Amino acid sequence: AGCEKTRQKTQKTVIVGAGPVGAMAGIYAARRGHEVEIYELRGDLRLPSITPLNFTRSINLAISERGLHALRNSGCPGLINGILADSIPMHGRMIHGSDSSGSLTQKAQVYDVHGEVEETLTTLSPVTFGQAIRAIDRAGLNKRLLDELEAMPNVKLFFNHKLTGADFRNKAAWFEVEKEHDDKLRAIEIEVQFDFLIGADGAHSATRYHLMKFVRMTYHQTYIDTLWCEFTIPPLPKEEGGGYRLSPNHLHIWPGKRFMFIAIPSRNHSFTCTLFLPSHEFSYLSSIPILVEPFFKQHFPGVIPSLITPEALQQQFAQNPHLPLVSVKCTPYHYAASCVILGDAAHAMVPFYGQGMNAGLEDVRVLFEQFLDATDFADPAARESALDAYTKHRYPDLVAINDLAMKNYDEMRSGVTSRLYLFRKWVEERVSLYLPASGWRTQYVRISFGNERYSDVVRSVAWQGLVLRSVIWGCSGAAVLGTTWALWRKREGASRGARLLVGWLGHLGKTRGWER
Ligand code: FAD
Repeated sequence: AGCEKTRQKTQKTVIVGAGPVGAMAGIYAARRGHEVEIYELRGDLRLPSITPLNFTRSINLAISERGLHALRNSGCPGLINGILADSIPMHGRMIHGSDSSGSLTQKAQVYDVHGEVEETLTTLSPVTFGQAIRAIDRAGLNKRLLDELEAMPNVKLFFNHKLTGADFRNKAAWFEVEKEHDDKLRAIEIEVQFDFLIGADGAHSATRYHLMKFVRMTYHQTYIDTLWCEFTIPPLPKEEGGGYRLSPNHLHIWPGKRFMFIAIPSRNHSFTCTLFLPSHEFSYLSSIPILVEPFFKQHFPGVIPSLITPEALQQQFAQNPHLPLVSVKCTPYHYAASCVILGDAAHAMVPFYGQGMNAGLEDVRVLFEQFLDATDFADPAARESALDAYTKHRYPDLVAINDLAMKNYDEMRSGVTSRLYLFRKWVEERVSLYLPASGWRTQYVRISFGNERYSDVVRSVAWQGLVLRSVIWGCSGAAVLGTTWALWRKREGASRGARLLVGWLGHLGKTRGWER
């Protein structure tokens, strides 16, 4: 709360979806004086009777600089402070495994080499050192955004409203609402007029579906052959202090080559874990549940029984949904001056870079700060060209992060243990540490701790890779040449020595009469 309306009410902006991106877009639009109406399919998640979000979505998320920057610039200082206070910094990955003797191993890999990481096993470490991504409760974040919106006089929230149709030419949208009629709930349709509509209704966006009827949209949707399922590592029992069972300042990974298990801390001292596994292996384990426990014992050492009991594991595997992962790329994101899609609606991505929501929040900041603020919003022609420029600017960035997210799955499930990966990380970190003027930074640091365009990150990292390869090839070439030259010199020296020796022996033979 505490945001002030800064400009005259002029335009009516309708937002479809009150997830993190829709709610954030509502705050940005309201701060600019728009008359904002937000329509959300579900009930108000702040009410206790509402199905928890984790029924269909991950319980907690990693928020990083791009998301935080959008919150910082929302003009609501209470928001960013509250969200930071609710979050847990994760300074790096903790890679779990076992050595050749079967003993459990944990190897920390810091995200930001400029920060010293303090190893703590049971307590939250201070947030003052190093750069960290932050674990945050998804529902808590969403509730804070909704509270902020509710306190703004030019915002109206409508829950249990489902977008069913839209005419972007005539600026009208239709929503299905359940109304009580003769003691029965009946679905009725209402029409809502708007000047501008923002579709932030997630990966299966109805706004996007209707937008396709108005623009020649290029659209790609990919389901990867991996499903995910959530588990919980509970806090230690009260008699043992009730703390965390693992370091709370790391994102824990059990890499498994074809699959992986990860754990993210929650403020109640538990960890929310996610199993990512190919769909046929999920089906196999589901058909023979007795195999779940040995599967975990074999591939994710240390999880059972010390972190999750075998009974809890079986139960959660059977009860928690096994959900798909979709990736969406499309363009354009807008129609004329009347509609734009943001967040997962425009670019759902697999979750392996922890950037889906961050990119969505960044969409909002970039759209308003870089494009709409520079134009006369009330002028449809000016707004259309701003939206056009937004699509052209943002598309390469969103394709870049979408592709990086897909590639990062390989890195997380197997790359993190490969010698080549660790060597490159080590070299890049040293260059960044000891030659700060070079601007050298790892891809992860550029993506998670900066606001550089995603497409620029890809270019910079490709250039760094080229320089590294050239240096390595150059050094290897120089080493090979040097060794060859040294050997040649040695051989030359040896043969000269041999010639001298033979000559001297010949001379000696002659003088001593050894010759036959
Ligand atoms: P959503 O969160 O999907 O919200 C869309 C809203 O629109 C919903 O409230 C929905 O009810 C509503 N809606 C849908 N249809 C309609 C309709 N017809 N009418 C009205 N309303 C409608 N991202 C990160 O940045 N960091 C992470 O660590 C991370 N981890 C993830 C882990 C997993 C396992 C998964 C699956 C995703 C993860 N993500 C992460 C991605 C992140 O969850 C999404 O990018 C983010 O939720 C997108 O926000 P959104 O507001 O665009 O969409």
